[in-house]
Amino acid sequence: MSRQPVLKNRRTLLERAEKFISDNYFTDCNLRGRLYGVSCPLESLASVLCSNRISFQEASKENFAPHNLGDTFGPTWWTCWFKVTLKIPESWRGKEVHLLWECDGEAMVWRDEQPVQGLTKDGEKTSYILSDCLKDEEPHSLTLYVEVACNGLFGAGQGSMIAAPDPNRRFSLQKAELVVFNRDVQELLTDFEMLIDIVKELGDGDQRGYQALFAANEMVNICDPSDPRSFSKAHDLAHKFFKQRNGESQHTAHAMGHCHIDTAWLWPYEETIRKCGRSWVAAIRLMEKNPEFVFTCSQAQQFQWVKSWYPGLYSQIQHHVKKGQFIPVGGSWVEMDGNLPSGESMVRQFLEGQRFFNREFGIICKEFWLPDTFGYSAQLPQILQGCGISNFLTQKLSWNLVNAFPHNTFFWEGLDGSEVLTHFPPGDSYGMNGKIEDLVKTVKNNKDKGRTNHSALLFGFGDGGGGPTQLMLDRLHRVQDTDGLPRVQASSPERFFSQLRAESALLCTWTGELFLELHQGTYTTQAQIKKGNRQCETLLHDAEIASSLALCRDGTFQYPVGKLRELWRLLLLNQFHDVIPGSCIGMVVEDALNYYEEIRRGAAALLQEAFGILGSKGNSAGVFNSLPWERLEVIQIHDGAALPALALVRVPSLGLSPVKDTQPVTPVSVTIQADGTVVMENGILQTVVNKDGTLASLCLISVNREAICDGSHGNQFVMFDDVPLYWDAWDTMDYHLQTRKPVMEVAQPVRVSSTSGLRGVVSFTLRISDKSTITQEIVMDATCPYLKFNTEVNWLESHKFLKVEFPVRVRSTSATYEIQFGHLQRPTHRNTSWDWAKYEVWGHKWADLSEHNFGVALLNDCKYGYSVHKSTMTLSLLRAPKAPDANADMGTHRFTYALMPHAGSFQEAAVIQSAYNLNFPLRPLLCNPDIVPRSAFSVSSPAVILETVKQAEDRKGALVVRLYESHGSSVSATVCTALPVKEAWLCDLLERHDGAQPVHIASEGISLNFKPFQIVTLLLIL
Ligand SMILES: [Zn+2]
Repeated sequence: MSRQPVLKNRRTLLERAEKFISDNYFTDCNLRGRLYGVSCPLESLASVLCSNRISFQEASKENFAPHNLGDTFGPTWWTCWFKVTLKIPESWRGKEVHLLWECDGEAMVWRDEQPVQGLTKDGEKTSYILSDCLKDEEPHSLTLYVEVACNGLFGAGQGSMIAAPDPNRRFSLQKAELVVFNRDVQELLTDFEMLIDIVKELGDGDQRGYQALFAANEMVNICDPSDPRSFSKAHDLAHKFFKQRNGESQHTAHAMGHCHIDTAWLWPYEETIRKCGRSWVAAIRLMEKNPEFVFTCSQAQQFQWVKSWYPGLYSQIQHHVKKGQFIPVGGSWVEMDGNLPSGESMVRQFLEGQRFFNREFGIICKEFWLPDTFGYSAQLPQILQGCGISNFLTQKLSWNLVNAFPHNTFFWEGLDGSEVLTHFPPGDSYGMNGKIEDLVKTVKNNKDKGRTNHSALLFGFGDGGGGPTQLMLDRLHRVQDTDGLPRVQASSPERFFSQLRAESALLCTWTGELFLELHQGTYTTQAQIKKGNRQCETLLHDAEIASSLALCRDGTFQYPVGKLRELWRLLLLNQFHDVIPGSCIGMVVEDALNYYEEIRRGAAALLQEAFGILGSKGNSAGVFNSLPWERLEVIQIHDGAALPALALVRVPSLGLSPVKDTQPVTPVSVTIQADGTVVMENGILQTVVNKDGTLASLCLISVNREAICDGSHGNQFVMFDDVPLYWDAWDTMDYHLQTRKPVMEVAQPVRVSSTSGLRGVVSFTLRISDKSTITQEIVMDATCPYLKFNTEVNWLESHKFLKVEFPVRVRSTSATYEIQFGHLQRPTHRNTSWDWAKYEVWGHKWADLSEHNFGVALLNDCKYGYSVHKSTMTLSLLRAPKAPDANADMGTHRFTYALMPHAGSFQEAAVIQSAYNLNFPLRPLLCNPDIVPRSAFSVSSPAVILETVKQAEDRKGALVVRLYESHGSSVSATVCTALPVKEAWLCDLLERHDGAQPVHIASEGISLNFKPFQIVTLLLIL
């Protein structure tokens, strides 16, 4: 045999192989053109259109009308049900037979009243396998139903993915037929694709790439697409290449199937239920064919949905969970935002999630799974450890716009020193597809080369669902151990993390928050959602405390376990990482706001029931304090039919008191000066309000310190142009800071609205533009250490950002921000890129800027976005993005912030307590006028905050009390209670106390020691 020349032309060899499998070129003679054999039309196709998402049972009773391929249907969010009758030709015996279904709407195939396959063109699933190898005894005639949602994998954005949905989109079914599928051609195509990708990904300088090139080239030489007998030789050649093994030192990629399903985003919650059904049934089909296939699946809420909507599918899932193939992960109710939920909310995400997984599957997840969230609180490691979790997986920090995060595998140390083993898959994705590119990236991008030899590789279409495909599995299967590529091993989170932990000696530690340098607009976008979250967190806190106290007061009182769980779950659901950040479409906002209304109504009713018991069925005015310190505050009371009146009331910690008007030590004085400015004073603060509502001065009287910077004004509203690069609702870019414009136009200058002695109020109105206005009341209460700003904004702007500034007379290189169960510092300067990338940051109820012995705190009741640069403290108020919700934040907003100058440190000055007071109003109740003011709990140390009181899970007659150290100090504290506590136990955040010693209850109370920012949970047996 004479030698044929193979010239040194890498390009033509490579492109020749590519054309051999191209679906665009030469399909008349190449291998791709042979993928499908003969086809056969359906016997009949009929459809019916429904505006709602109805069940199969309902749909199957509808009247179906004949449907022609190419007919359009819609509009967006409707459902088109198809009835398909088909007959497989006898002559296809021994062939693999598919129903080919090409449609731009997401589809579910139903057979024998059960969902059997999800089909999604964007997710590369367009065929339902009717038979792997047709036998005579198999049914040849079938009736199937196909449920087609009028939305794509990513909703129905008008013009671009994240644009607001087109409400009138039309959909069509382009192809629906029976085909013979040539599996041997598919196998060979996959061989070619992998070899070609090896050539391309390993590049010109790699010898292994050339070996792949010549293997592929020789395969083209010997493979005749028209003669299947030539295929096996080509296939053998590919496998000879794939079987050439690595040495022992090679990196291992732990491949895990995954399907990231956003619980709501560019589609409403209801569609997510169907996305779960479609994606998970597809995963089950893959498990049946690929026994080694492992699928990781997060979010208890989605399991709960599938359980109630698809019980048949759910029992298959349970079966595969038992087999270890379908693996529930994450331990949380939803994949929540990592910044905005309160500490208690985060605990509840895991309490609800872990309890669900444990009840349904006997599993407590060991890893937290949050691949797609916009930053991670420094308090998470402690919360995770308290919820039985010691590992954490995400990849989102690879999105950082400014600084590359230095680790992929590391120990993450939280605020209190708790550590979790953390992994960012170096492929920088949670939706890889098993291609060579993913494997090369997994090694190349790994910033812990040499320290660890294991990485996770998550594959499967994500965000809109879809999940893994057979092709992805086939790709990975070929290169399990191929010289030049990392080893690939089907793995599970447990196997993966225990491997990492076993070889963790060289791993580095990252201390503090994992701040995402992107999406910083999500602290502010969709202000009503933020407000709903904060208010409902407060309401559920109060409802649980009031119900717990009612339970102790009256043994016949039924603690509303079921109702509270239902309301908590709604709140947790809205904390999903595209809902609370405000990065969702308008339909989702509507759903979310309705859920908040439901929580408000439900919690108010629970409070009233509990108050009925606590007030001993009296009918005089009383007040309930849900916070663990005594409060002396001005409140509004409704005295019979008369107008609301003000009273100064003193209420004990976690307790109640009848309203007995107390005279203030120093009344509030309000004086209008000759120049039109107004002076207000309450003995603690003195302020001068300019005619335009800005503060000329705010003085802390006891130390005679001015809080406002020389030559500046406090309470200065400012507007910015806010046009990001792409992610509209998500991003506010650094350059927006260059467009600062003060709001100067006064529509109504400052006037005095109230001077009662207990409360001084001035109000004014500013015009932002011809469409938008700000009306504000500046409120000074007797005995109150902060000045309140009750604000109403009519907001009809486009791509603008409204903030309020307080230039203060304080110099410090760092500012402090409240986070979950604690606080942290961030720089006020812009030295390095890590510093200036934090030009917009998040915090909860307060931020503080202090120098030695003096500082100023900025408090709020529903905001999360802050920035402190040099001496200017700024609170972010409203944004106006147009995608994915074209109407985001348009309308009227009401919110309150407050300014609190203080002597000493913020800890000594009780800034933390003041921010709680602002957020948890004293609640009016009706009580017996003879009641002696009473307190259920008090804590001896001001550093320790008693955050939560609730009935223990599954345990009547026991309460759970959660406390945390808030100052960042090691302290001892005594918890005093008036409740009849028989036993006390320390427990974890899941309320488990196995193995723990009981806590001693002395006559003065329960003594506890706290480390800085430590969370302590007590189980009290009554
Ligand atoms: Zn997501």
